[in-house]
Amino acid sequence: MELYAKIRKWSQSKPDAIAVISNGAQLTYSELEQYSNSLSAFISEKMNENKAPIIVYGHMEPLMLVCFLAAVKSGRAYIPIDASIPEERVKKIINDSGATVFLSPGSVPTSLLSDGRFIVMDHHDINEAIALYKGAEPSSEQFVKDDENFYIIYTSGSTGNPKGVQITYNNLTSFIDWMVSDFGLRENQRFLNQAPFSFDLSVMDLYPCLYLGGTLWTISKDLIVNPKQLFESLRKSNIHVWTSTPSFVEMCLMDPQFSAEMLPYMETFLFCGEMLPNETARKLKTRFPNAVIYNTYGPTEATVAVTSVEINDEILNEYPSLPVGIPKKDVEIFIIDEKGNELNEGEKGEIVIAGKSVSKGYFNNEELTQKSFFFYRNQPAYKTGDVGYIKNGWLFCAGRLDFQIKLNGYRMEIEEIEVQLRKLSLVESAVIVPIYKDNKCQYLMAVVVPKAHSFEKEYQLTAHLKKELQQLLPAYMIPKKFVYVSSLPMTNNGKADRKQIANEVGV
Ligand code: AMP
Repeated sequence: MELYAKIRKWSQSKPDAIAVISNGAQLTYSELEQYSNSLSAFISEKMNENKAPIIVYGHMEPLMLVCFLAAVKSGRAYIPIDASIPEERVKKIINDSGATVFLSPGSVPTSLLSDGRFIVMDHHDINEAIALYKGAEPSSEQFVKDDENFYIIYTSGSTGNPKGVQITYNNLTSFIDWMVSDFGLRENQRFLNQAPFSFDLSVMDLYPCLYLGGTLWTISKDLIVNPKQLFESLRKSNIHVWTSTPSFVEMCLMDPQFSAEMLPYMETFLFCGEMLPNETARKLKTRFPNAVIYNTYGPTEATVAVTSVEINDEILNEYPSLPVGIPKKDVEIFIIDEKGNELNEGEKGEIVIAGKSVSKGYFNNEELTQKSFFFYRNQPAYKTGDVGYIKNGWLFCAGRLDFQIKLNGYRMEIEEIEVQLRKLSLVESAVIVPIYKDNKCQYLMAVVVPKAHSFEKEYQLTAHLKKELQQLLPAYMIPKKFVYVSSLPMTNNGKADRKQIANEVGV
């Protein structure tokens, strides 16, 4: 119960210290502790025996943290959903999870307001509940603990539906222990939070920060699309610890102002979620000569990250493609072939993660769980679908076995986009082609066989399809380019011939 105890300790020893700042709004440790206690008392009373997970919907509002902690203090897992997720997808998550409480520190999706099945609370309702239960002290007996779910994060699923990865209190504790012991993090530091809370990269800064009594400085999505404001915010942030995808730091590096002069207190850069290019790490070292850079690797299914390596000059010079590191101490990594046999150092195969970080599986989905989760050498294990190999003791990633990709740090199954695209009324069939440059996906191209339509120009059809897709998929999954063809070539076994299609559209 250390995480809860730590936050409580900070709320008593330094009640006015700021736990989170987001777009000028902030919460102190004492507020975070008291508000989450009150809201948890409200939830417990309202929900009684109903232990269904609680949806927390919003963006980077400080109240999001109150809702997360309130849920787990009431003994229920929370499901973070970013406000950029379209309503159709939110409904799928609600149906899949059986959630009946919807806490919304931002705005509430309109179609949910009229749905009588839920308790839907916007920020007024949340604040009212907090005021009503002021001074409540939930018993630690009821807190989420041990093998109970702490959070459930929904990721893209190849069937067309998102799948919920269950992370337990024990999974999270093992992750936090590693973060606070192996990365030189200290108490009272300022942590950058760039990833939305629905992406588990955010867990890498959120919980180590709260555990260490630090301050979380969030970068909301409206800042990310406005470089001038983003840099103004960063300049004011005084952060010590940076967590982001490599894509985000690459965007920042495009501006020469992004340097130690702008962020004089920077000590630690933590990267995860996609390949960290050697060139990016080099540039970063030049701009921030005194900061330490870590590359880390892991899927949501193994609690954020399970391997790490400090990227120093020796590593940069020795490995044009950077390693992702060595496993944390309570995790083992195996490389296996398609028959499940372990491979030797240097041989490429599928990366299997075994140990304390591995999730119980997908929520309410035994079939998908059985496909990827199993027991290996008496430990819970997960088949990542990542191709990798070990060299000189370091783990290296070398692509995927399936159609999962990363675009701007976001994980997605291109089959999920295809399922949604094929549902549209003017689409006969469609395939998504990821366009790569320097081993990195730059954008998605949709190759579409259209049905008869009345648009005069292709760009009008494209605008129409993109608009329809926006109802079904988050913006980051919508293909940038659309190409129209009269038919899609097939392989001998009747599947769309992706290679041939890519050739035909000239990529
Ligand atoms: P997510 O569940 O969103 O964290 O995505 C997990 C996937 O991102 C992994 O299975 C890998 O394919 C990829 N990934 C994560 N970290 C790295 C890394 N450091 N280098 C290369 N790929 C990575």
